Amino acid sequence: MEIRRDTFWNITFTMQLLLYVLAGIAILIFCYGFYRRYRLWNKGRKEKISWDTVKNNFAYFIRIAIRQTKLQRDKLTGTMHKMMAYGFVVLFIGTVLVFIDHDFGIPILQGVFYLIYELVLDVFGMVFIIGLLAFLYIRGKRQRTRMLQKRTDYALLILFLLIAAGGYVIEGIRISETNITYGHWSPVGYLLSKGFEGSLLFNRDTYLVWWMSHAILVFAFIAIMPYTKLFHIFTAPVNILISPVKRTGDFEAEVNGAISVGESKSVSKLYDFTNLQLLSTDACTECGRCDNLCPAHLSGKELAPRNIIMKIRDNMEENKVIASFISSEELKACTTCGACVEACPVSINHIDLILAMRRGALPEELLNPNAEEALIHTENDHNIWGSPWSSRENWTNGLDIPVLQPRQSKKKEAN
Ligand code: SF4
Ligand code: SF4
Repeated sequence: MEIRRDTFWNITFTMQLLLYVLAGIAILIFCYGFYRRYRLWNKGRKEKISWDTVKNNFAYFIRIAIRQTKLQRDKLTGTMHKMMAYGFVVLFIGTVLVFIDHDFGIPILQGVFYLIYELVLDVFGMVFIIGLLAFLYIRGKRQRTRMLQKRTDYALLILFLLIAAGGYVIEGIRISETNITYGHWSPVGYLLSKGFEGSLLFNRDTYLVWWMSHAILVFAFIAIMPYTKLFHIFTAPVNILISPVKRTGDFEAEVNGAISVGESKSVSKLYDFTNLQLLSTDACTECGRCDNLCPAHLSGKELAPRNIIMKIRDNMEENKVIASFISSEELKACTTCGACVEACPVSINHIDLILAMRRGALPEELLNPNAEEALIHTENDHNIWGSPWSSRENWTNGLDIPVLQPRQSKKKEAN
């Protein structure tokens, strides 16, 4: 018996055609959604991707995006996410190989390679399902208060579950109906095939329904991706790769129009952010790790870093005034401690966003003009009054204020 994949077993030509039409529609909807967000990012100030940053970030990318080390700080959910992500990637690669084999006419899915392919996909399909079930359980039991309890989050997990289970069902029917001798290379499908023997629900006649429902669910997933938080499957790796990795406490500070680190501008309207900053908010997975560590949030202040990111992301359709959807209390509450940036698994830099909004949205509220003047004099002249440095003690003249003399200071040092 020839060992090779029979991609369209028991599927008529008309149904094959319908599959391609549905696939085309799903891809069009996906492309439109992607373009819609891309257009919105580009309404921001233009900032080019720095290829030096991408090069420098490569090792960091492997650690954060591939090994997902930040997620592992919460061992249970980190492992679950890894299982889902790895399972998803392997199944995706498997689908691409089917496409190459069948549609490009390059026969790769045959012989020993095909047997190993079936085994690997079956195992990773199970890894994917276990990850999904555990995630559903953790969510359902509300074991992590940081997780939002949105219906769409549950719906997306169930969609994935149905897709994965549907794949096994059609595999099981195919093995049971064709009696192929190498069916055991797909252990899960093989076990199911044994249970399907003589079944009224899972047989050659119902195969088309199972096959089509599986395909429709996959296309639904492709189509909705850019309209839901699933978009992070694309944007998170991109953001991790292109965002400069900063040490905690390393942020852009602007005094009297002069910027001391990097280049930044104040933000009073949404499109004052750069295109890359707007893109970064689309990488948010709504995981709540930033809220979990934010001292302002934990001490009951109005600020929640996740909300800040989500509000920017969800208001991007118009060039809204920042103050119309983010309050000054939220912005003022940030201590710039960097805990949120440190915790974020997709490299969003909350501090840069918050500071830019502070500069633009509430400069007068934040800094009294007299205090600002004093700070500028101190920065420029080392004299709070703006006079030369050498005369900075002049204000003590006539006042009975002891001044430390050099000899005294030496003595002090010796002590
Ligand atoms: S930097 Fe600001 S927003 Fe982030 S954790 Fe610290 S206080 Fe919260
Ligand atoms: S900003 Fe980062 S840490 Fe915060 S919810 Fe979004 S992905 Fe999670």
